[in-house]
Amino acid sequence: MIIQLEKGIQQQDLQKLRDSLNGIDYKSNEVQTQFQHYIIGVGKKEFDIRSIGTLPGIKDIHRVSDAYKLVSRKWRVEDSVIDLGDGVKLGTGHFEIMAGPCSIESDEQIETTLQHLQKNNIRIMRGGVYKPRSSPYSFRGLGLEGLVRWHEAAKRYGIKIITEVMMTEQIEDMLPYVDILQVGARNSQNFNLLDALGKIDKPVLLKRGISGTIDELLQAAEYIFSNGNEKIMLCERGIRSYEKAYRNTMDINAIPILKEKTHLPVIADPSHGIGVRRHVSKVALATVAAGADGVIMEVHAQPEKAFSDGQQTLNFSEANKAYEDMRKMREIVNGG
Ligand code: PEP
Ligand code: MN
Repeated sequence: MIIQLEKGIQQQDLQKLRDSLNGIDYKSNEVQTQFQHYIIGVGKKEFDIRSIGTLPGIKDIHRVSDAYKLVSRKWRVEDSVIDLGDGVKLGTGHFEIMAGPCSIESDEQIETTLQHLQKNNIRIMRGGVYKPRSSPYSFRGLGLEGLVRWHEAAKRYGIKIITEVMMTEQIEDMLPYVDILQVGARNSQNFNLLDALGKIDKPVLLKRGISGTIDELLQAAEYIFSNGNEKIMLCERGIRSYEKAYRNTMDINAIPILKEKTHLPVIADPSHGIGVRRHVSKVALATVAAGADGVIMEVHAQPEKAFSDGQQTLNFSEANKAYEDMRKMREIVNGG
């Protein structure tokens, strides 16, 4: 059960509500986000919702039977849109492409990528400075120093930054230099990291775990929301299946299903989704057709020389065509 409280609810009214919930054996969890104040009631007993809903200081009350509550569409019917500022918004009606290399490698690479993005009117650049790698001997990123240099350059172009955070301890240092913090597939159920990301006022892109179910993804998002951060987007990036013909199995189905289950924006990552460069654009189109609110894609001036994930990275001319096609597909989806 989600109880939305009036702004500035009196302490004695809050206590009355807690006592009433206690009386029906419901545990009450208080949630204060950037936007609203809630009590999440968790319990089993059937009761007349009006007995709580008519108490003073209560704006609204909803019964939500799912394990995830605040991210559920059963409660918030309208889509959440995340405003990044400067006219960049993410969510239904605001399709955005995020593109850039798997890893940030050098000043020169940053500059050429920014030029490419600007030419294509892409407002958000992706890139990792902390890289989760299967082998400890692979390139693991330029770290905070690389992020600071990237931020400095991106600011000149008016382009926003999305990058992965791997540990709670990195968050504070990264905050001034990022517009969206990405939680990678390997950290999708790192609940300490999710708790910490719930306590900041910055958008978070949460990727689905390598073997994560849709329900687990939504519950992971609930961790962030219930700690106070409503600015969350979910990302389908392919899951591990028995199929070995490609890197991951891009779960296109997840896109409409997530859009139905949650009000949060849903982003697709076709690069990791299939992991095969020559097919990335086709899968990207399929995700747009399935209703993705945005696509995050790996691009590089010379994918053959990329420090990581070159095998699934488009070069600039391949990317130009992919952006154009995705935008056309988006128009079709919009009925245009
Ligand atoms: C990435 O975006 O480069 C990345 C490592 O993604 P994922 O966590 O989905 O593997
Ligand atoms: Mn990558």
